[in-house]
Amino acid sequence: MSALFDLATPTVALFERAERWPVRRIFCVGRNYAAHAREMGKDPDREPPFFFTKPADAVVESGVPVPYPPQTSNLHFEGELVVAIGRGGSRVAEDDALDHVWGYAVGNDLTRRDMQAEAKTMGRPWDMAKGFDHSAVIGPIRAAKDVGHLAEGPIQTRVNGEVKQDADLHELIWSVPEVVSFLSDTILLCAGDLIMTGTPAGVGALQSGDTCTVAIEGLGEISTTIVDPV
Ligand code: MN
Repeated sequence: MSALFDLATPTVALFERAERWPVRRIFCVGRNYAAHAREMGKDPDREPPFFFTKPADAVVESGVPVPYPPQTSNLHFEGELVVAIGRGGSRVAEDDALDHVWGYAVGNDLTRRDMQAEAKTMGRPWDMAKGFDHSAVIGPIRAAKDVGHLAEGPIQTRVNGEVKQDADLHELIWSVPEVVSFLSDTILLCAGDLIMTGTPAGVGALQSGDTCTVAIEGLGEISTTIVDPV
């Protein structure tokens, strides 16, 4: 049977490879750094991590201009470590979790913060605050066999050169193996899934004309310029 129309699979660049990474789903961890939980008005704790998602086609590569999105006046950056799942599985044990991780990338979880705040107040879903067009800046993905598995190291976000977020991956409340294990208890993880692991403290607003850079030691940096709405 043929499909009524073709859908292109969104892809992300692989570092120094001609092949590209087909994006299956984008999962995101909420409040995974204690200082960020505090700045969002929550007490950090070790309650199980919670997840939200972005559509696969929300993905944007480094260097691609992002139009300031509609229906917000408070667009925020969130610099994050991204985990690329190369092997699927359910109920993956923490000790086995890294076997499912193909590689890592730098990401920016763009957020309509005002819309998210309203959703929280109204008890509504975060989808439109988090999963809008061009909201997932990701890549290029580097293979774990080349860069190792990342558990520590600086993660920094700059806006127009000014440092806004300056943290270390070891501050993650839930580590990469723990996140992969938890998520695989909830859904069947599949090859192509990406996990944005949460942002450190220091989130803030972006305006049209701003350039936001996120850097993680060992993974390089990504850069996004916000441009006027189309
Ligand atoms: Mn985030």
